[in-house]
Amino acid sequence: MAIRVIEEKCKGCALCEKNCPFDAIQVKGQKAVIGMGCTECGNCIENCPFDAIEKTSPEKKAADVSAYRGVWVFAEQRDNEIQSVVFELLGEGRKLADELETELCAVLCGCGIREQAEELIACGADKVYVADHEILKHYRTESYSRVIFEAIERYKPEVVLLGATHIGRDLGPCLAVKAGTGLTADCTKLEIDRENRRLQQTRPAFGGNLMATIICPSHRPQMSTVRPGVMQKSVRDGGRTGALIDLPITFTEDEIPTKILDIIKSVGEKVSLTDAKIIVAGGMGLGSAEGFKLLKELADRLGGVVASSRACVDAGWIAPSYQVGQTGTTVKPAVYIACGISGAIQHLAGMQNSDYIIAINKNENAPIFEVADYGIVGDLYRVIPELMEALG
Ligand code: FAD
Ligand code: SF4
Repeated sequence: MAIRVIEEKCKGCALCEKNCPFDAIQVKGQKAVIGMGCTECGNCIENCPFDAIEKTSPEKKAADVSAYRGVWVFAEQRDNEIQSVVFELLGEGRKLADELETELCAVLCGCGIREQAEELIACGADKVYVADHEILKHYRTESYSRVIFEAIERYKPEVVLLGATHIGRDLGPCLAVKAGTGLTADCTKLEIDRENRRLQQTRPAFGGNLMATIICPSHRPQMSTVRPGVMQKSVRDGGRTGALIDLPITFTEDEIPTKILDIIKSVGEKVSLTDAKIIVAGGMGLGSAEGFKLLKELADRLGGVVASSRACVDAGWIAPSYQVGQTGTTVKPAVYIACGISGAIQHLAGMQNSDYIIAINKNENAPIFEVADYGIVGDLYRVIPELMEALG
């Protein structure tokens, strides 16, 4: 879909300009011009007295899939620090690229970001496409999607992966719409069907009760956002070499409707669950928010961090950033100690790939024991103090 001004009919009355809720239309030289902020809401069409604006839906032709090669990873950065999910995407992307016998490329956008390209190469990228410009200093949908979309059109990647972060979840769909292709959100597994080079994108569906594998057979690139914490990180090799390709900036600041006036960082509690080696997680079996103090004591003794089931977050016992599971964080620590957690499928979705799972639950039939390597049937308020005593 696209919004188009029929120039022969447009009288330059500027009614559309006044009525666009997104300030995405401007009258220039007596003609309305649709800008980058257009959301295709159609408001201007209804308001134009001369029927000079229309919505076009070009027939979607299947792409020539053989023209697309290469696996791309969006190298998300914040404050010029590459986000840890990027290294997971590089690890997974390397496998996919090797299966497809093609190259793995990273796309790096920002301002003063160039030197980070070396790190991406060391972590598996064969090429890094770099867009280094003041206009890209902070993430904005319009600027990032435009520069990356233009690169997609030019270099035609076969697969594009983004982290399922706030930025990736915003950018991915926007790129997919621009490129006229599909996107599978929140993937937990990616595989290549070698017969036809299709990316098999698996993600939880129907509240996590089944896993759906989705393909994008006729359009390219095949696009996925991938859950942080699920894929193995790439192994760094400082001796690797690769190419740097500069991406041009073909637009000016005036063309970007979004302006960043100020950045206010969250002052809420923050915890990095994805990088934790030891996690002591609590569920409703704690009985109250107070119970997390005991878990914190155990976590401190073990050099780990505290996490939680969603039920405790919903009960207001702990901040949402501590939640593990399908709608929380996916974790893969060396040791996950589940205390008073029943083991609902949505919780398991976020922790069952932990190296060792230890469950403490007073109900011997709790489903958590089905995934536990070690199970302790008992009251956590008796078991945890005893554990700490044993630790000395
Ligand atoms: P409960 O299921 O109430 O389990 C409490 C457990 O504690 C019981 O097994 C009980 O035997 C045990 N217990 C009680 N007292 C003690 C004691 N003194 N000592 C030892 N054991 C004790 N949940 C998540 O965790 N993460 C998610 O991301 C998530 N996403 C969801 C998404 C959707 C769409 C839906 C529908 C649900 C989601 N849920 C999620 C909720 C999930 O279905 C469960 O409701 C939740 O995980 C249950 O939390 P719990 O195990 O803490 O509580
Ligand atoms: Fe503005 Fe909506 Fe018209 Fe786009 S379609 S120019 S957003 S009124």
